[in-house]
Amino acid sequence: LKELLDQLKGKPNETVDGKNIMVYCNIGNPGDMDAVLANDGGGIGLFRSEFLYLQGNDYPTEEEQFQAYKTVAERMGGKRVIIRTLDIGADKQADYFNLDHEENPAMGLRAIRICLTRPEVFKTQLRALYRASAYGKVAIMFPMITSVWEVQEIKRICKNVREELAAEGVPMADYVELGIMIETPSAVMMSDRLAKEVDFFSVGTNDLTQYTLAVDRQGNNLDKFYDSHHPAVLRMLKMAADNAHAAGIWIGICGELGADTSLTETFLAIGIDELSVSPASVLPLRNAIRSIDSRVNHDKILNELLQS
Ligand code: PEP
Ligand code: MG
Repeated sequence: LKELLDQLKGKPNETVDGKNIMVYCNIGNPGDMDAVLANDGGGIGLFRSEFLYLQGNDYPTEEEQFQAYKTVAERMGGKRVIIRTLDIGADKQADYFNLDHEENPAMGLRAIRICLTRPEVFKTQLRALYRASAYGKVAIMFPMITSVWEVQEIKRICKNVREELAAEGVPMADYVELGIMIETPSAVMMSDRLAKEVDFFSVGTNDLTQYTLAVDRQGNNLDKFYDSHHPAVLRMLKMAADNAHAAGIWIGICGELGADTSLTETFLAIGIDELSVSPASVLPLRNAIRSIDSRVNHDKILNELLQS
């Protein structure tokens, strides 16, 4: 099997009828890059930056962050590297943030909510990201978005950071793509408006399943209810994809579900443009994509989804 998969290296992620899908990788730290390159990842679809915040006893400095982002950007050699801003809170706690104890941390002060509450923490990370943009094709992605105003506020802060760095004469890419994670039902319902504000969407199916079905993703004895194949989740994907395309942007999946090859054909029918998976899943997924002929089953799959 391994030899068979190895033969797929260098081949396009193309369906029988010639549709190209971006197959990217999820990574948790720069050390994962060896596996990305060994498995022929087409880009980084989700670089979880939390490792920088979880490994020490204090906030990582701008310089530490810059070095980590730059390393990954350089090693990808001009392929897209989507770095997600910090997603601390809920299941990822760092003591020095001194967050209050919460009864429902998944619905509490986490991710982008911390960034918009503590702009100095956010700005340090954004400075490091914009500096790293001079060394590869860096894109920035924001987690846990629920509202249009959050994205507008984020863009204002990004613009400030860019201007600050430009005034200091720091090199940066001319254009850095900004994207958001679609991982709350609110983001799906607002996806027509949100799509006009950003360059891409990436669906976090782990959280989207949790919030859509009101089932804790870490819950014990809830496996039967935590169902990412639930039609409610798949319909949300369809809605977000239609709204992304209407606004001329692309949409991917970076949650675990993206690697589930029993759904690859459904994702293509829905119009998903990118799948970001663990490095070990790249070649099996490429194999699945290359066996699909979207002319055969797509209408049937969509009809079933709408009637499910
Ligand atoms: C998700 O929620 O699906 C996701 C990719 O983000 P994380 O698992 O880091 O919350
Ligand atoms: Mg998430």
